[in-house]
Amino acid sequence: MKTKFVNILILFITTFVPSLLLANEINIYSHRQPFLINPFLELFTEETGIKTNVVYSKKGLAQRLKAEGDKSPADVILTVDIGRLYIYDDLDLLAPINSKKLLNNIPIYLRSPENTWFGLSKRARVIVVNKNKIKDGEITRIEDLADTKWKGKICTRPGSHVYNRGIMASVLAALGEEKAEQWAKSFVNNLAKRPQGNDRAQVKAIYEGECDIALINNYYFGKLKFSEDPEQRKWVENVKLIFPNQGENDRGAHVNISGGGIAKYSKNKENALALLEFLTSEKAQKLYGEINFEYPVNPKVLPSLELQKWGEFREDNLPIIKIAELGPLSQKIIDRVGW
Ligand code: FE
Repeated sequence: MKTKFVNILILFITTFVPSLLLANEINIYSHRQPFLINPFLELFTEETGIKTNVVYSKKGLAQRLKAEGDKSPADVILTVDIGRLYIYDDLDLLAPINSKKLLNNIPIYLRSPENTWFGLSKRARVIVVNKNKIKDGEITRIEDLADTKWKGKICTRPGSHVYNRGIMASVLAALGEEKAEQWAKSFVNNLAKRPQGNDRAQVKAIYEGECDIALINNYYFGKLKFSEDPEQRKWVENVKLIFPNQGENDRGAHVNISGGGIAKYSKNKENALALLEFLTSEKAQKLYGEINFEYPVNPKVLPSLELQKWGEFREDNLPIIKIAELGPLSQKIIDRVGW
C-alpha cells in the first residue's frame, strides 16, 4: 500500500511538476544589457506570474541558437538594430507569430512582413554639433555633411559598425547607389581624423575640440547628460542635437529599432508571445524612454518628458527591413570609400 502510494507520488511529481514549472518560465536570449531589460522583466513577472531566465551576450547568440537547433531552450530573442535582428530571420531561427496586439501596437514599417520579428523601441541616428561653432540652420540634412565647408570638422566611429551601416543604408535607399557613394566619399573627405571609438567618444572629441560635428544614436546624449561620471556630463554641455531631413518634403530622420521575436523551436510560444505583447503595452513602452532614452514604437504612447525636451521630429517611414536588405551593399560602399 505504502509503496503504491510512493509510486503514484513519484509518477505525479515526474509528470506534472516539470510541465507546471516549464509552463511558467521562459528563456530569453538577449543582446540587450541586463540593466535595461531587468526592469521590464520584473514588471512582466509581477503581472503574469511568468518567470524569466536570461542568457545575455553581446555576440554569438544567433550562432548558438542555430547550433542548438530544435534542442534549443530559447523562447524569446531580444536584440538591438535591424541589422542584427534580421540575421536571426535570415538563418530561419524565428517563428512567425499571429498576434493582433502586436499588429495594433507596432506600425507596419517597424516589423517583419512575415511577422517573424517586431520593433519594440526606436532610436534616431542624429547629428550632434558643437553649438558654439555651428549656427542654427547651417546643417539640416544628412546630405549636408558632404559639403566641403565641413572639411576637417567631422568625427565618426568606423563605418562598418552596424549603426553606421544603418545610416548608410538609409542614404542609399534615398539617393541610389551612385549618389550615395558620392555622399559617403565626400563625408569621409571631411573627417578630422581616422574613424575610431564608439558614439560617446565622438561627443568627447567634440568637447576636446578635435571636431565640431558627429553622428550618434540619440540615447547616448541622455546617457552622457545623466552620467554618474561628471567628466561625461561635461561632454554634452556645449553640444546640441540636430534631427536631420525635417524639411516639408524631406524624408524625415532615419530611425532604427530594438526588437525581438520568438525562437522557432520554442516549447513555450504562448508565454513567449505574452512577453512580446507586454513589451509593446503602454506601461512597458513608457519605460523605454525612462530607462534608456529610446522612443516608443506604440503610437499611442508619448516619448518620455526628457525626450520631448530634445525636440519633436518626423521620422523616415521607410520599411525598416530595407535597411537590413541594403546592408551588404552599404558595407561595400563603406569599404570602397574607406569609412
Ligand atoms: Fe548603442
